[in-house]
Amino acid sequence: MGSRFGASQPVYRDASTAPREGAAERDSRREDADPLDSIRKQTIDQVLSELGSSREGLASEEAGSRQQTAGKNLIESAKKRSPLLAFLSNFTHLMAVLLWVAGSIAFLAGMPELGVAVWLVNIINGVFSFWQEHRASQATEALKKMLPAYATVIRDGQEQKILAEDLVPGDVMLLAEGDKISADARVIQSSDLQVNQSTLNGESTPSRKTADAVLEEGLSAAEIPNLVFAGTSVSEGNGRAVVFRIGMATEFGKIASLTQNMEAAESPLTRELNRLTKQVTVFAMCMGIAFFLLSMLVVKEPFASSFIFALGMVVAFIPEGLLPTVTLSLAMAVQRMSTRNALVKKLDSVEALGSTSVICTDKTGTLTQNEMTVNHLWTATREYEISGVGYEPQGTIEAEGRSWRAVDDADLELLLEGGLLCGNARLAAPETEGGRWEVYGDPTEACLIVSAAKGGIDRAELEKRMPRIKELPFESRRKRMTTVHALEHPVDGARRLAFVKGAPNEVVRLSTKVRRNGKTVELDEATRTRIMAANDTYAADGLRVLAVAYRPLDGIDADADIPASLSDYDPDTIERNLTFVGLEVMMDPPRPEVAAAVAECRRAGIRIVMITGDYGLTAASIARRLKIVEGDDVSVISGFELAHMDDEELKRRLAGQVVFARMAPEQKLRVVTALQEMGEIVAVTGDGVNDAPALKKADIGVAMGITGTDVAKEAADMILTDDNFASIVAAIEEGRAVYSNIRKFLLYILNSNAPEAVPSAVYLLSGGAVPLPLTTMQILTIDLGTDMLPALGLGTEPPEDAIMDQPPRDPHERLLNRHVLVKAFLWYGLMASIAAMAGYLVVNLLNGWVPGMPLFGVGDDTDPVYIQATTMTLAGIVFAQIGQVMNCRTERTSVLKIGLFSNRRILVGIVFEVALIVFLTMFPPLQAVFHTAPLGWQDYAFLCCIPPVVFVIEEARKAWLRRRARR
Ligand code: ATP
Repeated sequence: MGSRFGASQPVYRDASTAPREGAAERDSRREDADPLDSIRKQTIDQVLSELGSSREGLASEEAGSRQQTAGKNLIESAKKRSPLLAFLSNFTHLMAVLLWVAGSIAFLAGMPELGVAVWLVNIINGVFSFWQEHRASQATEALKKMLPAYATVIRDGQEQKILAEDLVPGDVMLLAEGDKISADARVIQSSDLQVNQSTLNGESTPSRKTADAVLEEGLSAAEIPNLVFAGTSVSEGNGRAVVFRIGMATEFGKIASLTQNMEAAESPLTRELNRLTKQVTVFAMCMGIAFFLLSMLVVKEPFASSFIFALGMVVAFIPEGLLPTVTLSLAMAVQRMSTRNALVKKLDSVEALGSTSVICTDKTGTLTQNEMTVNHLWTATREYEISGVGYEPQGTIEAEGRSWRAVDDADLELLLEGGLLCGNARLAAPETEGGRWEVYGDPTEACLIVSAAKGGIDRAELEKRMPRIKELPFESRRKRMTTVHALEHPVDGARRLAFVKGAPNEVVRLSTKVRRNGKTVELDEATRTRIMAANDTYAADGLRVLAVAYRPLDGIDADADIPASLSDYDPDTIERNLTFVGLEVMMDPPRPEVAAAVAECRRAGIRIVMITGDYGLTAASIARRLKIVEGDDVSVISGFELAHMDDEELKRRLAGQVVFARMAPEQKLRVVTALQEMGEIVAVTGDGVNDAPALKKADIGVAMGITGTDVAKEAADMILTDDNFASIVAAIEEGRAVYSNIRKFLLYILNSNAPEAVPSAVYLLSGGAVPLPLTTMQILTIDLGTDMLPALGLGTEPPEDAIMDQPPRDPHERLLNRHVLVKAFLWYGLMASIAAMAGYLVVNLLNGWVPGMPLFGVGDDTDPVYIQATTMTLAGIVFAQIGQVMNCRTERTSVLKIGLFSNRRILVGIVFEVALIVFLTMFPPLQAVFHTAPLGWQDYAFLCCIPPVVFVIEEARKAWLRRRARR
């Protein structure tokens, strides 16, 4: 058996003889000599036979049975913090410790029920926080499952996309640019394959990988040129590799087990919330001390009762449950976004999304459908039109009033053949009648297959006649690709030919000859101009144009400087002295939903900057059609121009309307950096390997789920499952909603502090003439029970209509700003304080008090009217909070418009708080603890008036705000 290869995974020579090994046996081999040593030294055939595989991969059945023994290809996830520790941590932070101490002092001061109540607040708060954290982490886990890793393998002789966790030793993986490699494997075919191994050795320059046996000694694992490792990614080229180790046995698995216990860094939002909680806690302490001193010095209360009184204030002001509630509302927003095709990888990205002020987007596939159809062909001899839409190869090629087949025109034939051969896409016929033709691979290449078919070219026959022997893969930077073919029948006297296809100006620049009327002639300046003029006419209509050219690589016409060996072919030596054949012109219609999304961005003050690899005229035409830019004042900056532009000039141009065209992916980074330096919060889309730096640098990196490479997805903060620009806008809307929900939540929990503090202030400032209208136990009742549930409901409000009518949030703006404080304390708080104090006076009035007389309960805590009056203060606050929770749901929009009863959680919270109040006042044992008394029907009649009054007053203010905004 091939024990030499697998440190802990069995390796198979032949499935039927592969024994089922025990863990002990496998463990005993861990000490083997370097297992990589023999696999690197063997020839490809030896390796394949040792692994019981072949160039055509494994059979599915065989792979299944191997998985039974080898297990799944998984890196065991990091050890989670023990639930007990997570639970306990909710009782050991600053606020909790304060409450423990406060409770203990209450016990010492001879107020055991108060001590119990304070501790209970603390316990309920801790349990509640734990529960929310748990739900939030469940939501995050669920999210991870939505982002599975895939691998492309050959099974049953066919290319298949499988879950990376299903890879088994012996699987032959196909590796393409941008793919993440999910297992340790030996390269068996390499076409300029280069791998980024920074996850293994921290080295960011890609390593070249080859299929040859490596005999050299003294190499570290990452240095071995014929091995690729799990956790690394393909940065260029493509190839095939046979898996020899999976899961925790891979090099990455070994490192992962060492590094898994690292702590995650705190997000900015968490830091901001921690800061806020600390600030409010300090504020609460100051209030407590002030109230304590006033009580001792002004009212001359004894020390113990002054302390208890102050304690009530401290507890009232501490914002319990803030952090977990915020985390939960973020998690829920992330879940909502996932239903709108945006998968957010980290909760705190939601916040940056909400303040995004610029979206840098690419064009193809994001703004357009990436469903290409070639509708024109152009050669130096004539121009053709092609009928038919989509990938169904039905349609005709027309010119000069007749239809043409490839065989009718040698130039047309070369154009269609070159376009077809120089590509890697596949088309699959529909399985059912009337079904759609499916594309595997790049749609730009797929449409060339269709145009060739319409010209009557048989792909299988052509590939037999001109088999591919080498590929110089497409690169966004080069904007072209090349394939080399061995020919049965010579072209221009050559039996080896390179086809090049790519951006027209690139191809024309590299061409020295042109095909015209079936002959190869010199490419003169006039013809160059004609080609580029034709290109520009198409591009100005928003069409995408690709040029096709070829070059004989042997025979009498071949240049002398062509390398003798295939392995020395590279873009520099091959892509020159080309013979231009023609243009394939394709349309890629804009996505229908994008225009509305662009309009929404405009309303929301979000700028859109198109950064595309496509041609300037095509880019500008699409940008205009989608109203991304308007009017004459638009500058189109090409990658070339940008390379010669200094940062000052770039920023000046970025202040106006601009479209970036023919950009190399690396240049995106520069644009993003300039925008960030201009103070913008930037979201950037990307799909390729070279987009990764820009995606990382952006405040929100957005990768394409369908066309994006694994590398881009890894670098991004958000992945669009439909590659659609409109989904970014939807996510921004959710991001804004979350932030505004956190504010709503803060506003709500802060606003009850005012009516909790005002009664005490009245008592203190009246020097005790107004008996304390709200006792410490009653304050705790609000914090303990009635406030929390409705507040939670606010965290789940859907986005307000008007939320996309406002400019982006200033990223420097604090969560708790003056506006929120004023609104909480001086507006909502004032209304609730009036309601609470009115309740207190109503009981006095109903019981025969007339102004001028001392109020009930002065100097007598046991006076039943006094206790009933304080109960009314408590109930007054709770009922005012019913109105306030509704008021907090929107900033300006009328709550009636979004539906008074549309938030179920808030309704449940309201029912709960009313039930709790009734319960606490009805039962004598609870009455004793919470200092409450039963309320009569007149009291309830009064209470029931509070929510509508509070609500109507605020609705009137919102209506006034709306009117003012309209004006
Ligand atoms: P965007 O950047 O908006 O997605 P794009 O697809 O045009 O647009 P790139 O993928 O960087 O951007 O391509 C750059 C240019 O390279 C294209 O405009 C086209 O001219 C050329 N090109 C694109 N795909 C291929 C391909 N498969 N083979 C050869 N040339 C290609």
